[in-house]
Amino acid sequence: MSDNKPLSGRAALITGSTSGIGLALADALAGAGVNIMLNGLGDRDAIERTRADLAQKHAVDVRYHGADMTRPDEIADLVAQTQGAFGRLDIAVPNAGIQYIAPIEDFPVEKWDAILAINLSSAFHIIRAAVPIMKAQGFGRIVNMASAHALVASPFKSAYVAAKHGLAGLTKTVGLEVAEHGITCNAICPGYVKTPLVEAQIGPTAKARCISEEDVVRDVLLAAQPTKAFVSYEQLAGMLLYLVSDAGASVNGTMLSIDGGWTAQ
Ligand code: NAD
Repeated sequence: MSDNKPLSGRAALITGSTSGIGLALADALAGAGVNIMLNGLGDRDAIERTRADLAQKHAVDVRYHGADMTRPDEIADLVAQTQGAFGRLDIAVPNAGIQYIAPIEDFPVEKWDAILAINLSSAFHIIRAAVPIMKAQGFGRIVNMASAHALVASPFKSAYVAAKHGLAGLTKTVGLEVAEHGITCNAICPGYVKTPLVEAQIGPTAKARCISEEDVVRDVLLAAQPTKAFVSYEQLAGMLLYLVSDAGASVNGTMLSIDGGWTAQ
């Protein structure tokens, strides 16, 4: 291991890493020397360009698996293929997530089911398959991508808030179960980060609240975020790199807020 590549030789699996936060975290881990299994939806040619760019930029092994996070069999295969490719699995980041905004009485049942599957159950399936590998290694870092909405609620996001609160329970429970095996399980709880997922909420929120898109950004999205600034990819990457480092070994079963003070209110 070299000083500028502190995690050289480690292997990470990040779900939902073809876009937004997941891709930024993959880039940060690859920059620290970690071999990466990418996952997510999207145009296959664009994903292949992303994969090749990351591998070349950081001189690490980067693979891609297209497992659909609503399919437990495909998720199990994703974990098995990651171990097969790299011979180990050190860092698992269940990050894939979707959002849907509607009043509870109009909330489409299929959207509820999809959000619970992708934002919560997929983390269970990843962790369930990853823990035996990590126990055998005597080392593992599980970092769930939760949200400020794992700790507090907002109206019209019943499925997302329920799934993220569920992820908090899963994080704490797994943290207790793996604590004596050199494994930690934590969750990062960001406030608003300007990703495609957030940008896609601006129009529907404006419609649901009958206000302009500019007012949604200032008065709704960042209303609860006291810094009035979006959380950056670099700030999230810094928290992840801390959690997976040796310095993070005693941080376990906890929800780490990175929300500009949102949940202090
Ligand atoms: P994004 O839309 O940019 O990325 C979501 C990723 O999940 C994409 O790679 C997409 O392909 C993948 N995905 C979606 N459905 C999938 C499926 N069925 N199977 C496999 N992959 C699937 O969103 P983002 O903002 O980067 O969100 C990433 C995570 O961060 C989510 O869990 C989200 O809840 C969480 N989060 C985001 C914010 C924010 O402000 N953006 C804040 C708090 C938490």
